[in-house]
Amino acid sequence: MSDPPELVIAGAGIAGLALAAGLAHGGAAYRVRLLDERPALGSSGGTITLWPAALAALDRIGAGAEVRAAGHRVAAGTIRSHTGRVLRSLDVDRTATVLGEAPLALRRGLLVEILHARSAPAGVTFGTAVTGYERTDGGVRVPTSSGPLAARALVGADGYRSRVARTLQPGLTETYAGYPAWRGLSRTPGLEAVQLWGRRQEFGVVPLGEDLAYWFATVREPAGGTAGDELAHLASAFAGWPDPVARVLADTAPDAVSRNDVMDREPLRRWRDGPVVVIGDAAHPMRPHLGQGGGQALVDAALLASLLTAGTVPEQAFAAFEARRRRTAGWVVRASRAAARAVEAPSPVHRLSALVPDAVLLRALAALGGSRS
Ligand SMILES: Cc1cc2nc3c(=O)[nH]c(=O)nc-3n(C[C@H](O)[C@H](O)[C@H](O)COP(=O)(O)OP(=O)(O)OC[C@H]3O[C@@H](n4cnc5c(N)ncnc54)[C@H](O)[C@@H]3O)c2cc1C
Repeated sequence: MSDPPELVIAGAGIAGLALAAGLAHGGAAYRVRLLDERPALGSSGGTITLWPAALAALDRIGAGAEVRAAGHRVAAGTIRSHTGRVLRSLDVDRTATVLGEAPLALRRGLLVEILHARSAPAGVTFGTAVTGYERTDGGVRVPTSSGPLAARALVGADGYRSRVARTLQPGLTETYAGYPAWRGLSRTPGLEAVQLWGRRQEFGVVPLGEDLAYWFATVREPAGGTAGDELAHLASAFAGWPDPVARVLADTAPDAVSRNDVMDREPLRRWRDGPVVVIGDAAHPMRPHLGQGGGQALVDAALLASLLTAGTVPEQAFAAFEARRRRTAGWVVRASRAAARAVEAPSPVHRLSALVPDAVLLRALAALGGSRS
């Protein structure tokens, strides 16, 4: 009997690990090689919020129960102005009913470990960067930092700086969105979920149990980083904002903060090139405000795993994948950009937005990341 065809996955982030886990779960007839340029499993970014669509995708690859057990249900909480005025207050049970279930917050490292364990038959080759690809008669030649590989097909799951996407579409440009995003973990006990908006800045808090909370912040400023003390920088940028901002920052250890410049990448004109396809951020990077990028990567991975497991040749699976995902993912990219504009709007617009009925907002959120989206 001949060996099964080889599928190379570039990138062992959320998308790549979930695809490998889904292929193992479905018993796909591929030898999978999962390559990552990092020296070890990455888990940067502290915490991630997963919406019901992402949890449903995890169910499809067999990891949903384990992820739910590792996470914390997000109580919907309030949106307030930077003066403390309540703009909207959403009830967790009503939100869960409309969305299909409550969103979940969990440590990114736990999600990555769960997916990694489930991708085990593939195993990850760390410290190997994919540098592009060339199509061949039998499939694809994949040059890497450890030498070239010959494969039947290649999946680029290598994030928004994707080398696979840049080979698919040379000259792909990216521009600074105008603000960095900070993320941190705070030991402040007894917090409730809240988002605060004003002065083109935002600060959000998501509790992770009784005495730990994830927080995120954006502030308009030049790209490239601050003098080094991110917490002092944020304490100054958010001086005078309502509780719990100052407490949350004061209870955060300096090594529990990360900062990333938010970038907008030009959309890809196509996601595939014969035996090559891109998924996750490599295909559709998006602004972080709606907390959707990782979830969309999971939806991609679960769908592509099922198409490849169904026995079609990779080219057909990739065509069906692009046909089913491109429009929806494009819509989520645009909605995430619209959310950025909403955050940055002047205070009178925030006050007016509070007049939009909860039912209308919840229906929009359900279409975006609900379990039936
Ligand atoms: C501030 C912020 C907050 C966010 N919050 C949320 C949230 O709450 N919920 C949510 O769903 N999403 C969130 N996101 C988005 C989410 O982090 C991304 O969408 C998600 O990580 C995309 O997964 P991915 O696997 O496609 O890419 P990545 O996570 O970027 O993984 C790519 C992998 O490929 C590897 N790699 C890169 N280049 C190469 C190469 N050339 N060769 C081999 N390997 C390579 C990398 O080392 C990495 O392991 C947030 C993003 C930001 C910036």
